[in-house]
Amino acid sequence: MLLSVQKALQLQGERLPFEAEVPLEPFEFCGDQLRFSSPVWVSGRMVGIEDRIELEGEIKAELLSTCVRCLKEARLPLNIPFTEIYLREEDPEEPDAFLYEASAVDLDQMVLGNIVMNLPVQLLCKPDCKGLCPTCGKDLNLGPCDCDRSPVNEAFAALRALKLEDEDTP
Ligand SMILES: [Zn+2]
Ligand SMILES: [Zn+2]
Repeated sequence: MLLSVQKALQLQGERLPFEAEVPLEPFEFCGDQLRFSSPVWVSGRMVGIEDRIELEGEIKAELLSTCVRCLKEARLPLNIPFTEIYLREEDPEEPDAFLYEASAVDLDQMVLGNIVMNLPVQLLCKPDCKGLCPTCGKDLNLGPCDCDRSPVNEAFAALRALKLEDEDTP
């Protein structure tokens, strides 16, 4: 998605409002498939100082993926404030700047980069998702299952494992 910055180049030093819809392809992150529920929305202000363009604003998106605990659909709304610099030529003093040609900047890479940087380590359908029972596979958000996972039982299991190990040693 190209955003024209012609006005910012002409009206040097003026903060000009902009908004753009950025359709982005699904992508993979840490083995998870992520897709957008609708085009990403970017809005803010741009300012041109000579050939240097500064964009500052907010990225709004909603990601869809699979909850890592219960495997149901997880929705992740994102509101990301950003400030980014676009330059005509690479500048060692601004290694994070994006490059642009003519009078339009490409938003795709910049937007995706900001989204990836703000992703949580684990995508959950809700913060307190209880997940699936490791024994019977029941969705524990719907209620408890009949499997015995009490601390006492687990302690006995650990003890049994310990005994078995002892038996192995000569
Ligand atoms: Zn879940
Ligand atoms: Zn169970």
